[in-house]
Amino acid sequence: MSQHQNEMNEFHWMLDMIQTIDVGLVVLDKDYQVQVWNNFMETHSGLRPDQAQGKKLFSLFPQLPEDWLRHKIDSVFFLKNRAFTTWEQRPHVFPFKNYRPITGTVDFMYQNITIIPLTSLTGIVTHISLIIYDVTDNAVNKLEAQKVNEELKILSRTDKLTQLYNRGYWQDRLEQEFNRFVRNTAPSSLVMFDIDHFKQVNDTYGHPAGDKIITLVGDTLRKVMRKTDIAGRYGGEEFGVILTDTDSEHAKIFCERLRTAIEALKPVVDGVEIPFTVSLGVAELDDQTASAKDWLANTDQALYQSKHNGRNQTSLFAHKTPD
Ligand code: GH3
Ligand code: MG
Ligand code: MG
Repeated sequence: MSQHQNEMNEFHWMLDMIQTIDVGLVVLDKDYQVQVWNNFMETHSGLRPDQAQGKKLFSLFPQLPEDWLRHKIDSVFFLKNRAFTTWEQRPHVFPFKNYRPITGTVDFMYQNITIIPLTSLTGIVTHISLIIYDVTDNAVNKLEAQKVNEELKILSRTDKLTQLYNRGYWQDRLEQEFNRFVRNTAPSSLVMFDIDHFKQVNDTYGHPAGDKIITLVGDTLRKVMRKTDIAGRYGGEEFGVILTDTDSEHAKIFCERLRTAIEALKPVVDGVEIPFTVSLGVAELDDQTASAKDWLANTDQALYQSKHNGRNQTSLFAHKTPD
């Protein structure tokens, strides 16, 4: 075989490979006119090479994010460096449908794209090539894993009965809020409250009825509090609420709203009315409060005061003044 024939063979092999390779290959000139359009592109776009060649890419696909893609392509022409785009930046650059059986739940093909400069013999970048990878399987797996992780995270911080934060996570948030206060002068107040004579509720109406009451308290709390408030189930029938940007005076107003809302519930469980009340304690975070634990202890002391003074009421914590 002559040297010339060898080169011709290689050239044809190369064309065959480019045609059949399972990635998209597009060559564009400086006017974004299509020069090469391989099988992958034909299969997924429905456009034959003879329909694509010589046409401007952006008139073939008006759906393309033109400004963004032009910017990428121009920088490859200008800097003579490769550029990459990933599905995480833009999931579907070319509007191709997804036909993969495993990931059939998504409609469009997720793509990674590499743009490479094609240099002429004289060292000038006259064309660029787009290489389009179908990364649907990877993307869907990753997105599903992220979703599961997110759900697990939420589950791990949620109390089953009330859907409020559970004790562990709520305590972390209390620490965070305390630390934030050290840097920030906006007031914060902590509220702890406990259902009155709950043992009696359980004893009289049964534990399942008691659980329903606890759930109801969670629902009522959610209705009364603001989005920025941080509420958790601290113990069996004990709750904590961190009121951000709230001084004790406003916290007390919140407490009374919650207390009267709960008092008015008078829920009927299994055909029996079970009126019940709660006692509340409030402590505002101040300079004399040395730690989150202190803050909680102060609030608990105020709650104890409410219990001691006859229940179904709110008490404010006050530091002992020196005699
Ligand atoms: P007080 O007014 O002093 O708070 O009286 P109390 O009877 O509520 O006393 P305490 O707060 O000590 O009682 C807690 C009771 O709550 C004991 C327990 O039987 C009940 N309890 C704790 N967790 C749960 C729960 O998840 N479900 C139900 N149904 N009852 C619970
Ligand atoms: Mg109680
Ligand atoms: Mg209790």
